[in-house]
Amino acid sequence: MSSLEYVKKVLADAERVVCLVGRGTTFQTGCQLYDGDFEYEIESRYGLSVEEIFSESYYNNRTREFFEFYREEVLKHCGEPNAVYQTLARMEQDGKLIGIISRSIFGLCGRAGCKNVVDIHGTIFENSCPRCGRKYDYHYILDHKPIPYCENCRAVVRPQIVLTGEMVSNDKVTRATELVSRADVLLILGSTMQSYLTKSFIKYFNGSKVLLVNWAEHYSDVKADGVCIGNLPEILPKIYP
Ligand SMILES: [Zn+2]
Repeated sequence: MSSLEYVKKVLADAERVVCLVGRGTTFQTGCQLYDGDFEYEIESRYGLSVEEIFSESYYNNRTREFFEFYREEVLKHCGEPNAVYQTLARMEQDGKLIGIISRSIFGLCGRAGCKNVVDIHGTIFENSCPRCGRKYDYHYILDHKPIPYCENCRAVVRPQIVLTGEMVSNDKVTRATELVSRADVLLILGSTMQSYLTKSFIKYFNGSKVLLVNWAEHYSDVKADGVCIGNLPEILPKIYP
């Protein structure tokens, strides 16, 4: 049996799949943030790494520059859900997939129609005033240059994304670990067995099989029970036809 056939069979037999959606799933969606070439381009243009710009201290001290970067390089390149996300939405509708834990901030799972998604690092669609709590949408941040202020109290509207150095909320960690503990199959997409995402949650997995689908081979792949390597938008519809 080929590795693709094996992964397909495990998914066909599974009853409660939980999916870990890594940053690699955003490739070929139009999102550029997690692309290696983009990080290099940003460093040469801004003189700082994406991680440095996406930090709490940069946000607090260089708020105007943060929002310029955020608007031009992140919000304007937020991509569209592709076959990876459409397949996940179909799996969930079929009752096969009980939930998704995503690390990307583009909300692609939700935009594809997935319902039970824990966006552990938040998404670009959630913004709120730290003072009065009023919520703002994606367009408000995009349109209010250079800094988006709250219409009620004039505080800076904060994108509800986790910046470098910040903790993921306890509530989200609890929801994610509870989901993983109920799964019989764990499907890891666009990530590796050694990633922060996988290592954070695999210890709560009590099920039988771990499946991994990623763009390139990694030395840690042997830790998964089934592995498919290649083009994610092509593989997903094949492993769950
Ligand atoms: Zn406010």
